[in-house]
Amino acid sequence: MPQEPILTDTQFDPEDEYRPEPEPEAEPPAWTDGSLRIGVHASIAGRYTNALESARKLGCNALQIFSASPRMWAGGPSRIPEADAAEFRARREELKLGPLVIHANYLINLAAVQPMLRTRSIQAFHDEMLRGLQLGADFLVVHPGSRGEASPGQAMTTIIESVKQAGKRLQLGNLRVLIENTAGMGTAVGSRLEEVAEIVRGLESLGAGACLDTAHLFAAGYDISMAAGLETTIALVERTIGLQNVPVFHANDSKIPLGGRVDRHEHIGKGKIGAEAFARILRHPKLGAAPPEGLPGRAFLLETPIDDPGNDRRNVAKLWELAGLSDQAPRAEKGFSMLTAALKKKITEHRKTIARNKAKAGAGKRKSGKTGKKTKSKKG
Ligand SMILES: [Zn+2]
Ligand SMILES: [Zn+2]
Repeated sequence: MPQEPILTDTQFDPEDEYRPEPEPEAEPPAWTDGSLRIGVHASIAGRYTNALESARKLGCNALQIFSASPRMWAGGPSRIPEADAAEFRARREELKLGPLVIHANYLINLAAVQPMLRTRSIQAFHDEMLRGLQLGADFLVVHPGSRGEASPGQAMTTIIESVKQAGKRLQLGNLRVLIENTAGMGTAVGSRLEEVAEIVRGLESLGAGACLDTAHLFAAGYDISMAAGLETTIALVERTIGLQNVPVFHANDSKIPLGGRVDRHEHIGKGKIGAEAFARILRHPKLGAAPPEGLPGRAFLLETPIDDPGNDRRNVAKLWELAGLSDQAPRAEKGFSMLTAALKKKITEHRKTIARNKAKAGAGKRKSGKTGKKTKSKKG
């Protein structure tokens, strides 16, 4: 008797197929409900959740943060302790703040030619992505970088390659990289919208988009202070980057006149762009968050100076007012500011001390210079 084959029936039975539970349809986040999102760059000093509390108390429904100290390479460990990240995510959920935008470290230069600086920049940007994922961020904004001696074309290739390398072996999920336009200081890449568009296109596989800064646009020569100039600029964005790829605007007035190519932010309405222009921008259906013309979740985030306590709160209120949405704005906490009078005093004193020490060091140098001469003449 022939042995019975172990498998009598090798035919595939579809019933045997392993089917995982269907993934629940991910609900769109609450902040993409078509309401305009207005926020501020908030400080994480002391504790990550402090930024969330500040945004809430300032009357925001969105915010931007740094994920670590922005002006230092070693801004702490590359990862955030998971307990802190979890606390942050939970509190953000409670406060319904969104989108959450992270601004990358200023020292990152994705266009760097010098190998050491390039490697460091890629590593640092990779760390930004990691922390962004930990915090549950929606967008990670980065400046394209400075090209130095390289041609604009070479720089563009370098930038695209750098971002791709930074994102290697990472599942970015809902985290989108946004390339920010620049004022065009020195050899900064990205003052022309065509350049930003080329980088965004090169990063299509990563789902990258753009963040447009109003002060940078203006300083780069796009006259968004006038109705006609705004229309021309919008038309150019549509032809190049595409408005659907611009989920975030940095709302800053400019200390610098049109085409001045220097990056200096001013309070909303106090600069060369002006209040009337911001009202036009904030009320423009194509720049809004309401469909069909707007982009759900569209955010305007302030990076305006905080010279005096209350500057931050007043700029947030100004944006809501100019958008014609004061009645829908979240209530700000009376008198709250990220800059308290005590902190301002401390900063002023700190600056004075630095100035005093500098003056002393200068005097010391002059003195030791004289002494040095004396010693020399003695010897000689
Ligand atoms: Zn900006
Ligand atoms: Zn700027």
